[in-house]
Order: sequence, then C-alpha cells, then structure tokens
Amino acid sequence: MTRTTNDLLRQEARCGIRLRSRGVNTIPHEKKSYEPATCGHCGGEGCIYCNKTGTVLVTAPKRACRHCEGVGCIYCGFTGWAEPKGKYD
Ligand SMILES: [Zn+2]
Ligand SMILES: [Zn+2]
Repeated sequence: MTRTTNDLLRQEARCGIRLRSRGVNTIPHEKKSYEPATCGHCGGEGCIYCNKTGTVLVTAPKRACRHCEGVGCIYCGFTGWAEPKGKYD
C-alpha cells in the first residue's frame, strides 16, 4: 500500500522536474540581469564581501541563499543572496 503511494509520488515528482527543465531550456539565458541587494554579511554597513558598498549585485530576481537563508556562507560568497554576480562577470 505505502509502496504504491510512494511510487506514484515519485513518478509525479519526476514528471514535474522534466517539465520544469524543459521550460527552462526554452528560455534563452544569455540575458542575465542583476539587481542590487543589501549585503547579508554586514547588513549594508560595508564589508570586504560587498566592497565596502553595503550592497551586492545578485542575479535577478534576487532571492535569499537557500544554504544559509541570508546569513552568509561559501555558496553565496557571504552575501546572503543566491547567485551573486561574480567578480569577473
Ligand atoms: Zn557587506
Ligand atoms: Zn549562503
């Protein structure tokens, strides 16, 4: 009984993922836009991670880093935001 339910759920999840990735592929992602966000490390006061500006450029639409929920970690470059603009972009 439980196994059947789990299999169904897994199938649905797989379908959802496939549909979503197909949708993403149709969108040309050469036009990457960035928007300023308050640095999550210093809260806008300025630190080495935001170049003492208090703000960082992150990929739009900006969203908090899912690894640290905005506190700052290695995945977000200590900005607290997902996909911060790279130094060499
Ligand atoms: Zn900062
Ligand atoms: Zn993070």
